[in-house]
Amino acid sequence: MQRVTSLNELSAAVEEAKARGLEVAFVPTMGALHEGHLSLIKEARRHTPFVVVSIFVNPLQFGAGEDFEKYPRTIEEDAEKLAEAAVDVLFTPTVNDLYRGNMNVSESAGHLGEIYEGAARPEHFDGMLTVVSRLFEAVKPDYAVFGAKDAQQIFLIRQLAAKKFPALQIIEAPTIREASGLAMSSRNRFLSAENRAIAENLAAALKAGEAASTAGPASAVQAARNQMLKAPEAKLDYVALVDADTFEPVTDGFSGRAILLIAAVVGETRLIDNLDITF
Ligand code: AMP
Repeated sequence: MQRVTSLNELSAAVEEAKARGLEVAFVPTMGALHEGHLSLIKEARRHTPFVVVSIFVNPLQFGAGEDFEKYPRTIEEDAEKLAEAAVDVLFTPTVNDLYRGNMNVSESAGHLGEIYEGAARPEHFDGMLTVVSRLFEAVKPDYAVFGAKDAQQIFLIRQLAAKKFPALQIIEAPTIREASGLAMSSRNRFLSAENRAIAENLAAALKAGEAASTAGPASAVQAARNQMLKAPEAKLDYVALVDADTFEPVTDGFSGRAILLIAAVVGETRLIDNLDITF
């Protein structure tokens, strides 16, 4: 595995692969890698043998008072995991490498930047889209792989790609969970044993919603909320059911693929999860 930090080194590595006739797959991450991230790499390799992974904790997507400073950084452990996973290039830019002094937000999530995760984290999606756009420009991938775990994120990234990177294929990989159902997340390491048990209610709520979905969308949402009532220690932010194609709320009578979304704060840690439900 080649480790690069500067944009020039990155371009050289990617150009060399392209000269060998290889397509390029890209997996952007913020590090503190877990099985979820590794599953994205496996998915990337299904499309091409040449895989670039980035690790960059993007200051632009953290709001004031969020956990940018505290976000787990485990770069040497991560590099070992990526070498084991036979990743070709690990790109770990500094803020200066990537932004070159221009820390302006260049992308807008629009209305979706103001609802669900956007409501709780007002600057998050514009900052996320800005870094993803920079990374796409730097890596010039043919494929980019993202987790279904961050449903609103991948929805926005598809819109960004359609607008600015039409040749790029965005690939969605399923959410990897622990045996308890808890969706894997770099932030899970902040959970005490007690809070982990509380956090497991998010996945349980989604399952309860799915089980109730035969009675329609409103029942699914209500069942998920009812499950969360059993875990009052979790500060529930929202449960919502949205159309997978538009991210618009779904009501009774809907037919098609929907996503049941949930977000809650457990201890100090904000957790999100979601589940696809077809009506
Ligand atoms: P992050 O490092 O948290 O920014 O996530 C990097 C990528 O990994 C994103 O595309 C996430 O959606 C994805 N990801 C995070 N957790 C999981 C998971 N449990 N299963 C699948 N993908 C995940």
